[in-house]
This record gives sequence, C-alpha cells and structure tokens, in this order.
Amino acid sequence: MRYSGWQILRQALGGNRGWKAQWRRPDPRPEYDVVIVGGGGHGLATAFYLAKNHGIRRIAVLEKGALGLGNVGRNTTVVRSTYMLPGNGEFYSFSLALWRDLSQELDYNVMFSPRGVISLVHSDGQRDRFARLGNAMVGRDDHVVLLGRAELRRMVPYLDYDNTRFPIFGGLLQPDAGTARHDAVAWGYARAADRLGVDLIEHCEVTGFDIADGRVRAVETTRGRINAGKVGIAVAGNSGRLAGMAGFRLPIESHVLQAFVTEGLKPVVDHVISYGMGHFYISQSDKGGLVFGGDLDGYASYAQRGNLPRVEHVMEAGMTLMPMLGRARVLRSWGGVMDMSADGSPIIDRAPVEGIFLNAGWCYGGFKAVPGSGVAFAKLIATGEPLKAAAAYRLDRFQTGHLIDEEGTGALHNRH
Ligand SMILES: Cc1cc2nc3c(=O)[nH]c(=O)nc-3n(C[C@H](O)[C@H](O)[C@H](O)COP(=O)(O)OP(=O)(O)OC[C@H]3O[C@@H](n4cnc5c(N)ncnc54)[C@H](O)[C@@H]3O)c2cc1C
Repeated sequence: MRYSGWQILRQALGGNRGWKAQWRRPDPRPEYDVVIVGGGGHGLATAFYLAKNHGIRRIAVLEKGALGLGNVGRNTTVVRSTYMLPGNGEFYSFSLALWRDLSQELDYNVMFSPRGVISLVHSDGQRDRFARLGNAMVGRDDHVVLLGRAELRRMVPYLDYDNTRFPIFGGLLQPDAGTARHDAVAWGYARAADRLGVDLIEHCEVTGFDIADGRVRAVETTRGRINAGKVGIAVAGNSGRLAGMAGFRLPIESHVLQAFVTEGLKPVVDHVISYGMGHFYISQSDKGGLVFGGDLDGYASYAQRGNLPRVEHVMEAGMTLMPMLGRARVLRSWGGVMDMSADGSPIIDRAPVEGIFLNAGWCYGGFKAVPGSGVAFAKLIATGEPLKAAAAYRLDRFQTGHLIDEEGTGALHNRH
C-alpha cells in the first residue's frame, strides 16, 4: 500500500478499515545471507539499503524488544552537519543531504524540519573556533552563517542577553539543519525494508555467536539458532556486550543520556538552540512540547533512565539561558544508553571476526547519522569496501593513533 492523499480519502470513505499493518511479523528462517543485530535506526536503515542498493533479499533484522524503542525513539532529533575534521565532516554532510528526500524515498513522512540550528558563541576564542568550523563546512558546500550578537538577538529575542552566567557573543547558524520525528524514522525504514522482503524479527535477542576457524557461522538467539553468511552489529549502547559475545573488546563505554519534554505550548522556539557552554540544548516539537537535554549523567550504565543531579544541572542551565523556561511544566523525562567511543567518533568497519561487521560508537549524535550510516554500512557489508565518506571510521584507528577527536575532548564533553 502506497501512502498518499488519495489513499487517505479512499480509506476515509471505507471507514478506515482498510489500513494494513506496517510490516509483517515473520518467524525467523533457519538461515539468512545477512543478519543485522539491532532494530534501531542504524540497523533498520542498513537492512533497507542492503535490499535497495545491493539487491540482497535474504536479510533479517533481529531486535530483542520492539522496533524503535531504543535510542532511535528516545533522542531529541537534532539533525545537523556542524562537524569540522576531515573524515568526519564529509560523512555528516552526506547524511544531511539524504534527510532532504527521505520522506519521499521511504514513502513515509519523517517530518524532517530544516528550521535552523544555532550554536551559541560565548567568547572570542569560541567565535574563532566556530569561524574555522564554518569555513570547513563552506568548503564542503554546506550552508552556514556566523551571527553577531545584535543579529542573533533579533532572531532569538527570548534568551537572557544581559544577566546570564556566560555572556552571549553571537552564534553559528546552519539554516538547513533542524529536527525530524524520531519514531517515524524507525517506522519508515522498517516499513520500507519490509516491503523489500526484509524479515523484521522482534523479541528476538542475540545471546551468542557460533564462530569456527575465526569465521562467524550463526547467531544464537532467544528464538533459536539462525545461520548467517554475514552479521552486522548495530546495537548502540549494547555494542560492548555483543563484542564480548563474539570474543573481542571495543574502545567504547556505555553511558546514560537524559532528555526532557514540557507540556504543549504555543510556538515560541523556532530553531534548535545549542548552549554548549552550559551543556543545554532545546527545540520545540510540532506538538508544542519544548524538547531539551544536556550532558551525559557521567557514569557507565546500561540502565535506560537517569539520575536527579543531572536533571538539576540541565534545568539550571536552561533557566540561566532562557528564564521563561521556568514557567513551563516538564511532562516527561527519560534516558538512553550511549555507545561512547574513546575519541567521540563512530566505527563502521569489519570486526576482528571474519563475517562480522561493526556499526557503533555514535555517542549522543547518531540520530542525524542514520541515513548516511545505513548507506555506508550496507555498502561495507555487501561489497567489503567502505563508502568513501565513511572510510575514516576504522576500528584500528585506536591502535594506529589516527583518532577523529572532533572537539579535542575525547568522548566526554565534561572533561574539557
Ligand atoms: C536522550 C538522547 C538524546 C539524543 N539526542 C540526539 C540528537 O539530538 N541528535 C542525534 O543525532 N543523536 C541523538 N542521540 C543519539 C542517537 O539517538 C543514537 O546515537 C542512535 O539512535 C543510536 O543508534 P540506533 O538508533 O541504531 O540505536 P537504538 O535505537 O538503541 O538501536 C539499537 C537496538 O539494538 C537492540 N539490541 C541491543 N542488544 C541486542 C541483542 N543482544 N539482540 C538483539 N537486539 C539488541 C536494542 O534493543 C535497540 O533497539 C540522542 C540519544 C539519547 C538517548
């Protein structure tokens, strides 16, 4: 079933009884050409591009829970390409370009909203850094504008410019960056992959690997053994666990990141505002809730919930930047488990076991990467060759020293 205005009319006339389930619920087959572990954004996108770009048909995505309930459904949906370093910048520009036509490609409204992302500047040194970042982005044909204080104030009048903890000098605006609807991204890729014959198998946890002579032969799951020619691991905060099952270690720690949403309000925050100095960022959802977050909780954990000291810190940072925030009531908060790599950049590479491929280390920035990562990981799995824009995301860079430390702070902001 294709989604369209005509389809809505047709279904309405039929009492809305003709809508079909968005994807099938197949039982696992005994064998697949490619098994993807993890039904989050990266796993689902990879399965879709494996089928679409490379014509592979016998593909399964194994998800231990329900599709889309991991970080892909828990994030704050900021999509941008404000990255500077060679090896990193070109990948995020590539991924941002894919967002523009994603709804058409998936036949699913992912509500990509290029409303502009503004990173605030609080010192001369930070302005110099953002000017360099902006120049690097212009060099990749990204659109970016360095804003002075007066111009920023005209665009975003509700910030505290006169009495805030860190004075506001201006901002770096990426006008065609923004937000998207997170669940729709998971559901859209799932439905599109299913239409190409991918088996999406929910409530199927991978518990081990059958490896012989250094090569993977099968995965052990809670729904039985499944033979696999190739296995792609895309389990975000559980990457270390899966690597452990396959007998290798990763330079990754799992950390909690929280997010918050207020009651629905009339439109007030038109952009995404990022306040790096205070560890706070905010946007407004299409339903009206102010969606905001801050830094990691700061301890390693697999729990999908956070603790109160970080709640207090985020609220304080928000209030010092935007005092009007104190009038809004917080409706919900939640946490997700981040796969923090040692240099803060991802890994898309072969694992040390033949036939296993690794997609991990997205830290708190992997939502924006979903389309680009799906294309890149699918290409690597299908052809054995990396996508040029993602070729620097090698696992051995942690041994060779070719790190991609975008902020000079490693994995954790709060260490600067
Ligand atoms: C609060 C918060 C805010 C964020 N904000 C942003 C943002 O604004 N912009 C941005 O770009 N990124 C953001 N991120 C980061 C982004 O959400 C993640 O980097 C990205 O979603 C991770 O990839 P994924 O979608 O594939 O992960 P997930 O959705 O977590 O998918 C991994 C899946 O693997 C499954 N799994 C794990 N172990 C197994 C197993 N043994 N067997 C089978 N399945 C298994 C899990 O159940 C899960 O569904 C944020 C994250 C959080 C938590």
